[in-house]
Amino acid sequence: MKIGTPKETSEGENRVAMTPDSALQLQKLGYDCLIETGAGSAAGFSDAVYEAAGVKVVKTAAALWKEADIIAKVRPPSDTEVKRLTEGKLLISFFYPAQNEKLMADAAKKGASVIAMDMVPRISRAQKMDALSSMANIAGYRAVIEAGNNFGRFFTGQVTAAGKVPPAKVLVVGAGVAGLAAIGTATSLGAITYAFDVRPEVAEQVESMGAEFVFLDFEEEQQDGAATGGYASVSSPEFAAAQLAKFRELAPEMDIVITTALIPNREAPELWTKDMVEAMKPGSVIIDLAAERGGNCKLTVKDEKIVTDNGVTIVGYTDFPSRMAAQSSTLYATNIRHMMTDLTPDKDGQVNHNMDDDVIRGATIAHANEVTFPPPPPKVQ
Ligand code: NAD
Repeated sequence: MKIGTPKETSEGENRVAMTPDSALQLQKLGYDCLIETGAGSAAGFSDAVYEAAGVKVVKTAAALWKEADIIAKVRPPSDTEVKRLTEGKLLISFFYPAQNEKLMADAAKKGASVIAMDMVPRISRAQKMDALSSMANIAGYRAVIEAGNNFGRFFTGQVTAAGKVPPAKVLVVGAGVAGLAAIGTATSLGAITYAFDVRPEVAEQVESMGAEFVFLDFEEEQQDGAATGGYASVSSPEFAAAQLAKFRELAPEMDIVITTALIPNREAPELWTKDMVEAMKPGSVIIDLAAERGGNCKLTVKDEKIVTDNGVTIVGYTDFPSRMAAQSSTLYATNIRHMMTDLTPDKDGQVNHNMDDDVIRGATIAHANEVTFPPPPPKVQ
């Protein structure tokens, strides 16, 4: 069978779902690989490098969608792309099915199968295909780099002939995959890093990365997210108030605040209020990684960078992985290649879409003319 990757059609998307390296691995599984001309150029992969890796370069998107049996891409398909699906084709991409129900139903009607990379179950066996995590890791790293780029001082403290420089203080709110990556990056640059999460079980991880976990003066236990499969749930009003009081206390001291707090299927919780921004020092920076879902900071403007009257820079970009397209394409293409490995048990270039496999079933949102979302809960944890 043939697996093909088109050029991403969303404006400003620099990533590509197949790299020359991943193509070599896909060929070992027995597949022929196709790429639309220029699909990798924004990520640093020229047509010539693909050709050298045995990939056929196809001139148009229409030709690629027609020739490929399997289409691997990054962003959810556009209407035009869904129209290009035909009976028996397999599409693998991010899809966010709950937000794209019509596209999903249209794809199913066409008789195509769809694997949504954002639906890969977050169980140990599937970590190698967990594109949400690989992209969140990049976003967390890049958030710190972006903060540094907008911050007029060093992260690390220094004693120089020209004077003593204090270390920057960084607060990371939300210590999931992106938050932990941000903590690791900030501490490695020498900042004094603090982190908070509603899930107290992450305190140990935070501390093992050299940051200080911020505990609340709260009588009841911090809420335990374990009941919701490792994700957070909505905080009680008392807990939320204690959290805001603590942040209010920290705001004047922090140079950089990176917010990553999310609750599944909800708008991002508002955790950094206007008065906290106003209490920060001029030159401080907030990077709001929750901007896509409404933002954790009240003043965040999605996809923009603003500077407040008191000189605080607030960054609400939602495309951090795309801003590191070479790295994110490499990791995403590897996630896809691992998915293809599981779909090709005989390494014969033929897809075996095994709906009894927890991971494949969990990620499949359309198959055999049916919408197959939402999936049943996975059997193996
Ligand atoms: P996420 O993006 O849904 O949320 C980011 C973080 O925000 C979470 O840690 C959450 O607890 C936190 N948060 C929510 N509300 C908050 C608030 N009011 N204040 C402060 N923090 C708040 O999370 P994620 O990065 O996708 O990770 C979610 C879970 O999934 C974690 O437990 C993670 O370890 C787990 N996970 C497991 C696997 C696996 O394969 N086993 C892979 C990836 C993630």
